[in-house]
Amino acid sequence: MKILVTGGAGYIGSITTAELIAAGHTVVVFDNLAQGHAAAVHPAATLVQGSLLDQAAVAALFAAHPACDGIMHFASHTLVGESVQKPLMYFHDNLLAVMHLLEQAVAHGVQRFILSSTANLFDQPEQIPIPETAAIRPGSPYGESKYMLERMLFWMDKIYGLRSVCLRYFNAAGGTPERGEDHAPETHLIPLVLQVALGQREAITVFGNDYPTPDGTCIRDYIHVVDLAQAHILAMEHLDRIGTRQFNVGSGRGFSVLEVIQMVERVTGKPIPYTLGARRMGDPPILVAASDQLQQELNWQPRHSDLEQIVASAWDWHQRNPHGYRG
Ligand code: UDP
Repeated sequence: MKILVTGGAGYIGSITTAELIAAGHTVVVFDNLAQGHAAAVHPAATLVQGSLLDQAAVAALFAAHPACDGIMHFASHTLVGESVQKPLMYFHDNLLAVMHLLEQAVAHGVQRFILSSTANLFDQPEQIPIPETAAIRPGSPYGESKYMLERMLFWMDKIYGLRSVCLRYFNAAGGTPERGEDHAPETHLIPLVLQVALGQREAITVFGNDYPTPDGTCIRDYIHVVDLAQAHILAMEHLDRIGTRQFNVGSGRGFSVLEVIQMVERVTGKPIPYTLGARRMGDPPILVAASDQLQQELNWQPRHSDLEQIVASAWDWHQRNPHGYRG
């Protein structure tokens, strides 16, 4: 298949691009390179630099590549905390980008769309692990923007027959020998803790230890980025069979912030000093996925998502690339 990957120079997009190419697909990457890195894009992919907020640029992209079989849309603002500071930027940019994409998808008859959605749809879930049937209560403007996109896609199928799979990511983490997590500024727990192990940061701040969890710190479900990439590929390859769906993507196991810190100490052999800080607004206490539907419908398995394997793969990439894609 020929797949358009937006945000294909970013962390999850670049690793999915590499996995798509390894599976024999052709990839066109569209990325504004604001967060992404040209060096992260697999050399066999075609990289087009541009912004999804620029309607003319998106039209030109589709004019140059009219025969895409599907779109994987990664390009997005993705931070819970930032979205509470800048809610309108999240609503404006995350929605407008998809509107521009969908205008062109409809005009060019593109029938398949995979959306990066989020576990932030489930603030204070009644059931853990969280099934797809759980009540939707977005925990932040970021989560709300993704839910709005899920609803837009629902109507695109009803009206235009454009099928979509929304993958609700839990916490993507880990790397491959060639690609890893490199955000500026970095806000995610595992790469920040690894920066402490590398001696680039003195300590990690734990955001709150008064949550209703066994050690008081937030529990998250860490999913290896390669398992996440495979979920996208399976969803795209089987979209015609399964039709428009929403799936949770996680390992089904949760780890607290302190457990992650301990795992990094074990894998790296370095002590990780930490300080206790205030809660970060928008953070639900516990997010763990029930991914049974994805496993049953697409025969997907979280093969690399043991926490030790996740941390070891991220540590390997960060040791080889202590300054990320800058070397
Ligand atoms: N976290 C933390 N200190 C940090 C960064 C993150 O305690 O410096 C916590 C955060 O509050 C959350 C968990 O680690 O409970 C995972 O956060 P991350 O930003 O990696 O992912 P998110 O859950 O926001 O998608």
